[in-house]
Amino acid sequence: MHAQTIGRRGGAGPSPESDRLPERADVAVIGAGLIGLSIAWRLARAGVAVAVVERGRAGDGASLAATGMLAAAAEHEPGGEALSPLCLASQRLWHPFRDELEAESGLTIDYRREGTLVIALGRDEVERLRFRHELQRRDGLAAEWLSGPAVRAREPGLRPTVTAGLFCPEDHQVDPARVMAALRAAFRAAGGRLIEGCTVTALSREGGRVAGLETTSGSLRAGHVVLASGAWAGEGSLVPDLALPVRPLKGQSMALQMTPRSGHLSHVVWTEQVHMAPKGDGTLIVGATVEETGFDPHLTAGGLYALLEGARRALPGVEEMQVSGVWSGFRPTSDDDAPILGEARPGLVLAAGHHRNGYLLAPVTAAAVATLILRGETLPVAAPFGLARFTSPSSETS
Ligand SMILES: Cc1cc2nc3c(=O)[nH]c(=O)nc-3n(C[C@H](O)[C@H](O)[C@H](O)COP(=O)(O)OP(=O)(O)OC[C@H]3O[C@@H](n4cnc5c(N)ncnc54)[C@H](O)[C@@H]3O)c2cc1C
Repeated sequence: MHAQTIGRRGGAGPSPESDRLPERADVAVIGAGLIGLSIAWRLARAGVAVAVVERGRAGDGASLAATGMLAAAAEHEPGGEALSPLCLASQRLWHPFRDELEAESGLTIDYRREGTLVIALGRDEVERLRFRHELQRRDGLAAEWLSGPAVRAREPGLRPTVTAGLFCPEDHQVDPARVMAALRAAFRAAGGRLIEGCTVTALSREGGRVAGLETTSGSLRAGHVVLASGAWAGEGSLVPDLALPVRPLKGQSMALQMTPRSGHLSHVVWTEQVHMAPKGDGTLIVGATVEETGFDPHLTAGGLYALLEGARRALPGVEEMQVSGVWSGFRPTSDDDAPILGEARPGLVLAAGHHRNGYLLAPVTAAAVATLILRGETLPVAAPFGLARFTSPSSETS
């Protein structure tokens, strides 16, 4: 079941006619989320014939539920050191990715570079923030320690109880609704086919190689198949002989409208309970719960209460803001919280398990998968993230 939404922001734009399923493509991608469409666009602009098959509408999965933070430093946690090089590589790739995406789609994606503040409220939180700062410095992530008054000088709307903060200048953000609209437009402008409302039911094989898809609209032969079906990649029905350690991790979020009376944030602000991300249109996204409830999409009073309480604890102005949307989504989470990238069977490439970092990791994922398909090479930075790490102890990432 897909996410539940009431007034979720944007969408992938007006619904153009879905393309018809072709009989053949060089590459078939399962899933038109951020990851599938990013890969498909990079391949299509290189002259490859790509068809993306999506059972709902593009972005319906996790991708339109996200906040859009590119938070290599703020998201960094104990045990995350193996993932950091991939996150940093992708953060660097975001600038050319954005420039090309905006130029080729003719759309803007609200890329904001004010940076991120991770704040502490009270003495216990300061100690934990110091520990986080040590971890960031050890792993080469940009973060600057700020006193409480220095935090409030940057964000005067925060409560005086803010005792300290970390400023992460490289942790920028984008607007997911705009990114998905731009990806759709750029992919189609590059000649790609996007088939929506079409479910992939099986993979077809020829001589030991994955050679295409069976779908509810017919068959598609393809030289390569990319599995980019998000949290559903672990369901196992498409590739029964391949146990992918990917599960759904539910997140509930809400959109509030900032006004002159409520005050504005300009940075993304993290507390221990919530993150708050101001967008260019005056929306403040408050997210996100983290829930192990399988594919249960329901919005709950407890989840929404936790978001509002967490936001109000740092930013009293939220009381004045109008609620314009609430929604849930399923992060595709692997057993070690890192993505699974690379060829799993001849002809079958995996791009799943991006957990809380799909937006951050989209450029490097697209580059890695495109390089693998176009040149048969594995990008060194992506090499530790194959499926083999879950089966071979010698190649574990952390
Ligand atoms: C509340 C929330 C907040 C988040 N915030 C951030 C953030 O700030 N920054 C960040 O970097 N990441 C964030 N994330 C994570 C990010 O959204 C994901 O990592 C990313 O969107 C995953 O993209 P995807 O394309 O792999 O999956 P999805 O977007 O879920 O796309 C998979 C698609 O595959 C389709 N599909 C599945 N099975 C089939 C089938 N058999 N046939 C056809 N189609 C199929 C689905 O319908 C779906 O559209 C957040 C996630 C959530 C839930």
